Amino acid sequence: MKKHNFSAGPSILSSEVFDKASESILNFDGIDLSILEISHRSKEFVGVMNEARKIALHLLNLDEDEYTSLFLQGGASLQFLMIAYNFLNNKAGYVDTGSWSTKAMKEAKFFGNVIEIASSKEKNFNYIPKHYTISDDMDYAHITTNNTIFGTQFHEIPESPCPLFSDMSSDIFSRKLNFNKFDLIYAGAQKNIGPAGATLVVIKKEILESICRKVPSMLNYQIHFDKDSMFNTPPVFSVYACMLSLKWLEKKGGIDVVESLNRKKSELLYKEIDNDDVFNGFANVDDRSLMNVTFNLYDEKNKDVFDKMLIENNISGLNGHRSVGGYRASIYNAMDISSVEILIDTIRKFKNYI
Ligand SMILES: *Cc1c(COP(=O)(O)O)cnc(C)c1O
Repeated sequence: MKKHNFSAGPSILSSEVFDKASESILNFDGIDLSILEISHRSKEFVGVMNEARKIALHLLNLDEDEYTSLFLQGGASLQFLMIAYNFLNNKAGYVDTGSWSTKAMKEAKFFGNVIEIASSKEKNFNYIPKHYTISDDMDYAHITTNNTIFGTQFHEIPESPCPLFSDMSSDIFSRKLNFNKFDLIYAGAQKNIGPAGATLVVIKKEILESICRKVPSMLNYQIHFDKDSMFNTPPVFSVYACMLSLKWLEKKGGIDVVESLNRKKSELLYKEIDNDDVFNGFANVDDRSLMNVTFNLYDEKNKDVFDKMLIENNISGLNGHRSVGGYRASIYNAMDISSVEILIDTIRKFKNYI
């Protein structure tokens, strides 16, 4: 029996995607070749790439004339430096909300001045800073909309007088936002899009004109755009599985439908964590993530009992990140509410037992 997989990433995909992707490894779309062996320049794969890029923009409700999407490699971590290489001419501002944004700042410092707009570091990133203003003299401002490790999420996107960039690795396609507010969005696929290996980058085309220095081809957004996201061999299988998963989401009713399911799943879980003093939610209540629910045991002496119950109930991937400890339930789009109910049921059994 398949486990209930709460892993933070690489993470769960829908069973439809697994089925179709498995089929394609033996025979891709009935062409008697595997997806693993076809040319990325074949009309079949060019079709896959174009479709994946198109659906991504469509789901985000972004206009194809105004925005473009790319599937690149190197993970979100390469985007940390690539955005700065292309766009950090003088200074850029970052809201520091966790380990990933700290890493993004570290990489950007190779290219220019990095201003910390606000930070929640003094409380081990358990909240999202508010009440700050972003000045208009920066090349861009950068936020991390969902902090995968700490389980916090921006529920309001700050107003920015300069171009707004965002790492949305762990919450893209999970909720409706006005994506037009952003000039650049990036997300490693392996949290809420597809398998590891591809990174989605969504760019407002007009900012390509502000690439501020000579950038080598592989790291140059303009070149990837000019080459239709096929400057070199893309991660063919990963892009294919991303396409399947985006199509699955579209068929399900898109972001609106999945957002209400995500809200329901996270509300159920937070309610269970809050309803007595066995567990303690890590994140500030107002800033809680819909995607990564972080919680700790009040009394660590019961940890072994709970861990054993998780195994007995077929629950996998619930360990918290080492910088937070405790537990983290990642409940991305593809997770069915029934798995969340099983987790809640297990938590109840544990509470009754101790
Ligand atoms: C996982 C994650 C990353 C790192 O992604 P890679 O693709 O492994 O480089 C960056 N930012 C956030 C918010 C993440 O959750």
